[in-house]
Amino acid sequence: MDSAATEPQLTEPYLTTVLSNSGLGVEYVRGEGNTLFHVGADGKEIPVTDYCGGYASLILGHNNAELTAHAKAVLDSGIPVYAQFSRHSAANRLAVKLNEIVARETGATEPYFAHFASTGAEAIETAVKQAEFDRVLKASALMSEIEAHVEQARRAAREGHLTVADSAYGKVPAPASPATAAGSPQEALEHLVAAVTRHNGEVADRPPALLALEGSFHGKLMGSVQLTHNSGFRSAFGRLGAQAHFVPPNQPDVLTKTVEGIRAQGRVLDVVVTDGVADVVERDYPVFCAFLLEPIQGEGGIRVLDREAAEHIQRVSAEADCPLLIDEIQTGLGRTGAFLASSLVGLRGDYYVLSKSLGGGIAKSSVVLVHQKRYRGEFELVHSSTFAKDGFSTAVALKVVELLEADDGAAYRQVEERGEMLRAALDRVRADYPEVVKDTRGKGLLQGLEFHDQSGSAAPTISSAAQGGILGYVAAGYLLGAHRVRVLPTASAPNTLRFAPSLHLTQEETDQLEAALRDLCSLFRDEDERRLTG
Ligand code: PMP
Repeated sequence: MDSAATEPQLTEPYLTTVLSNSGLGVEYVRGEGNTLFHVGADGKEIPVTDYCGGYASLILGHNNAELTAHAKAVLDSGIPVYAQFSRHSAANRLAVKLNEIVARETGATEPYFAHFASTGAEAIETAVKQAEFDRVLKASALMSEIEAHVEQARRAAREGHLTVADSAYGKVPAPASPATAAGSPQEALEHLVAAVTRHNGEVADRPPALLALEGSFHGKLMGSVQLTHNSGFRSAFGRLGAQAHFVPPNQPDVLTKTVEGIRAQGRVLDVVVTDGVADVVERDYPVFCAFLLEPIQGEGGIRVLDREAAEHIQRVSAEADCPLLIDEIQTGLGRTGAFLASSLVGLRGDYYVLSKSLGGGIAKSSVVLVHQKRYRGEFELVHSSTFAKDGFSTAVALKVVELLEADDGAAYRQVEERGEMLRAALDRVRADYPEVVKDTRGKGLLQGLEFHDQSGSAAPTISSAAQGGILGYVAAGYLLGAHRVRVLPTASAPNTLRFAPSLHLTQEETDQLEAALRDLCSLFRDEDERRLTG
């Protein structure tokens, strides 16, 4: 007897039960291109066409032959995988290559420095920490400048040629006022300075302003989960980190208002002396840590950020000096037909975060690219990880990028072409089942199909799944069992199925998907309980 069948389930037992109940509790034993294989009762391999693509991390497919050969050669060469605190030429070559691509797609003329990590959420947190480090250093420089001005004023007061402008008291919060400040110019100045210092201390003590879009997904670790909009993932952990301001992606006025509101609360006070008169002026304080966004929200339901919204975000962020952190973890590495999906809508980031396909489906890798103007070299000494920038994953990532860039970017053209093929199939299904399919959307090989709400279905399995927010999982179980097609819903929009196959997607695989979806839609339309559970 198979010993695995008698072992207690000690890894994620709850999830394992959920998988089994929804027909997804299958163990895959082999993967190749867009196909995963599991073993049937007769011991034979059963192929399944995989549209999940490792949660969109397999732009080159499962076990890409060129990549696995390269990985084997890397290991056979005996290069050290872990030689921390030494030079890493493969990592640097990768950074150079990524810079060439970013410059080509965005027109950037200054470099981006690369900082490596292992996973998506880790890289998001690394990027946010970098942005916060830059902000804190800027804030500290501003406070030093204000202190120097205060000292200048004190010197002038001691030397007897300083008065405090009456108007100064109206610019600082109570209790400083001409009445409380009566006395010598030195005393008057100290009253003013006390109020200025108190106010500035309060502003500096506030948490950094983080902005993200409604529907966003930036990870599930302690910090990154605060930036993930879905309250089901976030709400229990809110006390563990700084809270984000979530703004709707396509309501420019709301963004403008939010940014202005934060900015208005983030003014510090400075003491300036002009012709022997001390006065108080307001100065902008660097309140903004970062604005995070995905060019296409993957887990949020394949929501594409349009050019107009992108331009507005770019403009508002630039005016407020709020760094733009573009999360290309899911959309990057050619997934949408360009290396950076953001470049297709004209966005330029201060920070880019890449992961998923960067590891080629065989390594864990992520990288933060930081624009020179935001970069602080000291950060390298305060942030590190044992596993970041290791010899294996960086050698694999370099090869991934070389494969994507080969033949003058043939891979990007292939993604575009196969993406159109996939989208056409989804659109045909939508056209024929308008009462079931609400929308199809996406770019390149990141596509989504959203179902109408099925909670009123006469089929109990369908209605209860829809009411419980798990309709997509029921659909996935059916497609796998009946059609050998593997699809899953997006994490935060369970009515939307995501299709993220590799660039090797064929017409035959697409036809198989189309037939499977047609069957599923007819079953939903006919409220056919028997066929679903049979
Ligand atoms: N950002 C985006 C856009 C993602 O899609 C994901 C993962 N789905 C993450 C961050 C988090 O990556 P990881 O799961 O590797 O932590």
